[in-house]
Amino acid sequence: MPMDPRHAILFEPVTIGCKTLPNRFYQVPHASGFGSGRPRAQAAFRSIKAEGGWGGVCVEYAAVSRDSDETPEVSADLWDDDDARALAMTAGAVHAHGALAGLELFHGGAASSNGSSRSARLAPSQVASFQSGSLAKEMTLDDIQRVQRDWVTAAKRAAAAGFDIVYVYGAHGYLLTQFLSPRTNHRTDGYGGSLANRGRFWLETLTAVRDAVGAECAVATRIGVHGAAGLPGIEIDEMLALIGMASDLVDLFDVTVGAWPEDSGTSRYYPEGHQRPWTHRVREATAKPVVAVGRYSTADLMADVIRSGAVDLIGSARQAIADPFLPAKIAAGRLDEVRECTGSNVCILREETFRHVGCVQNATAGEEFRRGWHPERFGPARNASRPVLVVGAGPAGMECAVVLGRRGFDSVHLVEAEPEIGGRLRWTRRLPTLGDWGRIVDYRAVQLARLPVEVITGRTLTAAEILGYGAELVVIATGSTWRGDGVQPGYPAPMPGADSGLPHVLTPEQVCAGKRPAGQQVAVYDTDGYYLGPAMAELLAGEGFEVTVVTTHPVLSPISDQTLEGEMLRDHLHRAGVRVVHATTVTGIVTGSAVGPHCLTGIDRYGEPWTMTCDGVVLVTQQVSSDGLYHELTAADPEPAGISAVYRIGDALAPRMISEAIFDGHRLGREIDLPDPALPAPYLREPAAL
Ligand code: ADP
Repeated sequence: MPMDPRHAILFEPVTIGCKTLPNRFYQVPHASGFGSGRPRAQAAFRSIKAEGGWGGVCVEYAAVSRDSDETPEVSADLWDDDDARALAMTAGAVHAHGALAGLELFHGGAASSNGSSRSARLAPSQVASFQSGSLAKEMTLDDIQRVQRDWVTAAKRAAAAGFDIVYVYGAHGYLLTQFLSPRTNHRTDGYGGSLANRGRFWLETLTAVRDAVGAECAVATRIGVHGAAGLPGIEIDEMLALIGMASDLVDLFDVTVGAWPEDSGTSRYYPEGHQRPWTHRVREATAKPVVAVGRYSTADLMADVIRSGAVDLIGSARQAIADPFLPAKIAAGRLDEVRECTGSNVCILREETFRHVGCVQNATAGEEFRRGWHPERFGPARNASRPVLVVGAGPAGMECAVVLGRRGFDSVHLVEAEPEIGGRLRWTRRLPTLGDWGRIVDYRAVQLARLPVEVITGRTLTAAEILGYGAELVVIATGSTWRGDGVQPGYPAPMPGADSGLPHVLTPEQVCAGKRPAGQQVAVYDTDGYYLGPAMAELLAGEGFEVTVVTTHPVLSPISDQTLEGEMLRDHLHRAGVRVVHATTVTGIVTGSAVGPHCLTGIDRYGEPWTMTCDGVVLVTQQVSSDGLYHELTAADPEPAGISAVYRIGDALAPRMISEAIFDGHRLGREIDLPDPALPAPYLREPAAL
């Protein structure tokens, strides 16, 4: 298919300083978990994006000084020539595909942990040490000049390593922003007070970096223009004034909004392009090229944004992780093959929990070097002539069938008991705020339709039917269900009174199928700690029930803090009138009469007895694998029936996050022709063993 002419504007080159980007697709700096310590994984992860058509590809934040140490987070430090040599691999790999490579030089100031270096944190004033546990050192003039020298040294190293774009990064609350905010900068010297003074450190650093490398590199700066830029006290009018002052020193303005939870807002709480009211005002202050993000996944919207004239480049982190080949697909008019970002921030959750980058939609993200996976290329399987039966079309089964189809299997049947594919997403995507997670199903439904995979819905297979099916390889992806008996972490026996066969005890699946308690007072008991308990509460509150979430966790939904949604989620539920009882364990459901009210009994955070009356309780305690079919089949000795292997993936193996179920299905599809596909093949590690 040819490209839609409306999208041609996205493929125009853009000159930034002494460099020219080949098009308007720009992967902004974002964490990968590889830093400079795992350079091969870093290079492979970034170069895939260049191969997929991103015209600019940046490495994550790279600290210029040793007193900007992010441990245990992983930054791409540029402290010495070893770091530079490591990162040069990425610049070279990105260049090999015709893209420009960028490096985001920064200093964290009071926001750095310095956990490894054990240096005192630096800050414009001691008041700026907003990290708990210790105060920062107020920077002396010598400190200011030394950090600026470090920045210049790092910029020279970046240029020598082959980077085309070097950053003076000052968004997201790091050192330059700490100087900008009157809340954190109380200085009375030339670096505090007026905007010109608070911006002096930034402008001087830009000048020094530009003088040092401006002839060979484009100089970019990243700046937060609204909503505190990660720190209170910074608002758009001042930022526009600063951008005006910096305009001559900068070749590319990379513009962000707010603190990180707003900047990387999830689809649950922010629409695509929600930053536009602020980022699109930067044009008022400068004619220099501007890049802004917006979790854009729609080519029409991207083209409209460029046509508006407000920005020059489509910035992307999350969509570029979900589909490194987005530009190539738009260029080829293959829009229905775009793997759209779900905006669920699993990538950020992984970073926040000190893991390397990953993606719910793209199982290959972060695995380019480690496992040699390419998001678009699938080698033919050596056993492709063997008929395969995949039982269960949830995330794991769908993904496995797609990979098997791409690997050239002659016959793949994907059989699903329900009338629709999607597994648990059939109902979770219908819950309040979770609609965009449906992209996981939609993308795979389109791919399955174009692959030689037979999708059969509305058929529940028994073990006997599978034995007689005619498949040689069987993949069990039958998922899991939520327990209706109250078994929960630390309590392996069923909870007295918990029985989802009773009218007042409900599982999430039952709620989604329409079951409701008889009265108005509903408790949601949540030990899971992620999205489902709060989503149940929001659904029921929206229907007029009086809802109380009782959670074992000290905060509601702690996992949502790792996806940056925690505060918004809690605010959302508060506004919906949902009450929350924290750090409380329910140990029994006492029933006065068949119609209630009923009494939850348990213990509070101090171990004291706790009770609450309600008309019904939704149990979001624990899942259990639907693995009966797998055990029946393996016990039955399937070999005489011509079945050479039975594999188990996804929640049927162990209930986990959707991203892990998809990863499981993908991995099995990739490795199904290895000697022992049930076990993951070894992957490459860095540094190589001595
Ligand atoms: P996962 O996340 O591991 O993919 P899900 O629970 O989301 O798991 O999906 C599992 C799917 O398997 C569900 O759609 C369920 O209807 C289907 N399934 C379970 N048992 C059978 C069976 N015996 N035959 C066909 N489909 C089944």
